[in-house]
Amino acid sequence: MAVVPFGGGTSVTGGLVAARDGYAGVVSLDLIRMDQLLGVDPISMTARLQPGMRGPQAEAALAEHGLRLGHYPQSFEFASIGGFAATRSSGQNSAGFGRFDQMVVGLRVATPIGELVVGSSPANAAGPDLRQLVLGSEGTFGVITEITVRVRTIAAETAYEAWRFESFIDGQAAMRHLAQNQILPTIIRLSDEAETALSARHMLAYGLPLSTDGRTWIQQEEVPFHEFSSDYVWIYHPWMQYAATALSFAVLGESTSSARLPFALAGVACILLLYRLARRSQPDPGVARLAAILLALFVPTILLARQCRYYAISAALTLLVLDSYLSLGSARQWSVPCFVLSSVLLFHTEYAAFFPVMAAVAAHALLFQRHSGLWKNLLPALALIVLLILPLSLIHISEPTRPY
Ligand SMILES: Cc1cc2nc3c(=O)[nH]c(=O)nc-3n(C[C@H](O)[C@H](O)[C@H](O)COP(=O)(O)OP(=O)(O)OC[C@H]3O[C@@H](n4cnc5c(N)ncnc54)[C@H](O)[C@@H]3O)c2cc1C
Repeated sequence: MAVVPFGGGTSVTGGLVAARDGYAGVVSLDLIRMDQLLGVDPISMTARLQPGMRGPQAEAALAEHGLRLGHYPQSFEFASIGGFAATRSSGQNSAGFGRFDQMVVGLRVATPIGELVVGSSPANAAGPDLRQLVLGSEGTFGVITEITVRVRTIAAETAYEAWRFESFIDGQAAMRHLAQNQILPTIIRLSDEAETALSARHMLAYGLPLSTDGRTWIQQEEVPFHEFSSDYVWIYHPWMQYAATALSFAVLGESTSSARLPFALAGVACILLLYRLARRSQPDPGVARLAAILLALFVPTILLARQCRYYAISAALTLLVLDSYLSLGSARQWSVPCFVLSSVLLFHTEYAAFFPVMAAVAAHALLFQRHSGLWKNLLPALALIVLLILPLSLIHISEPTRPY
């Protein structure tokens, strides 16, 4: 009879598959009710835990003694202590506290031929270390029924700092220096420019913003979400931000500055367009100037305009749609093409802005412009916009999405 221990069920390697593999039968052994803190040794700073405790449960139980485990894999919320040991789990806090296998002092294992107890004290120099046989064994030698781990006192204070490097390579070198000289903090993470630059690169290489190139995976949501199609093409939101960055990369080369340039330009355009719109309704130019200055000094504007995301482009296009809509009733030749083009581009930038803006335009025209000459331009313009956005909308509706 095969026995497959089941901890938190977060395995990503197929270790939980209840395969018979020639055995007469197979049992999936759920350990999640073995969830007790069995004891704490404040002198040697160790704790004995049952395998079914999930990460948060273990931390909560230890916190009652002023202690912590400090092991945070991304699956922390659901994964179990037994699973951490059985998979040699490594977490976000690994830089300082070490991997889970480095925390394990002792293990009690139920094997087919009897109980195996390995490891006894926090440090032992004698003979081969049988803990290593069990750690990472994924249940193949037996069921881990008890784990003795090193614990730490809860820190009185925690400090977080963020540093910026000129390039990813510089950041990598700094991290290597810290690691090799053993001066690592508890948590250290190096992040590069987010998914936009990567998707723009994929767009240049493959013609489409793919969510993966086989090595790197782009994920936006922590929870399973329909972010890409069955062909791994990104569909979580439209592609304008990727197209803008890809164009900038193609012209200026790949760098952080060229990735951000289109978004910074869109931010500047927002200020100019707001000034223009304010001038339309306010005879006093001072009011329009004040509006533009306040927008330029508004911290979220500055922050959003420097991010490689759709916010700045979407805001600029929204203002352009409104500005050209207000000109539709006039004799200005450019107003119809500008209204159509900016609306279609807005659709390809952010659906959540496109639909409310179109609804606002339609409501304004119906309520306040019912008898104006604006309609003779608005109706064909709206028809053209629908025709232009229809093909992509149909693709998105018919495209099956791939859940995680
Ligand atoms: C979203 C997500 C994020 C993740 N992030 C990380 C991460 O940051 N770092 C990391 O290392 N891993 C990560 N993982 C992988 C996984 O969460 C870890 O391997 C975790 O340690 C598994 O623990 P579990 O309790 O869920 O084990 P399970 O999935 O239940 O089991 C995993 C394996 O261990 C065996 N097993 C479980 N309990 C025992 C036991 N008591 N005795 C003997 N064998 C046992 C099972 O039979 C199985 O083979 C992630 C997984 C997901 C889904």
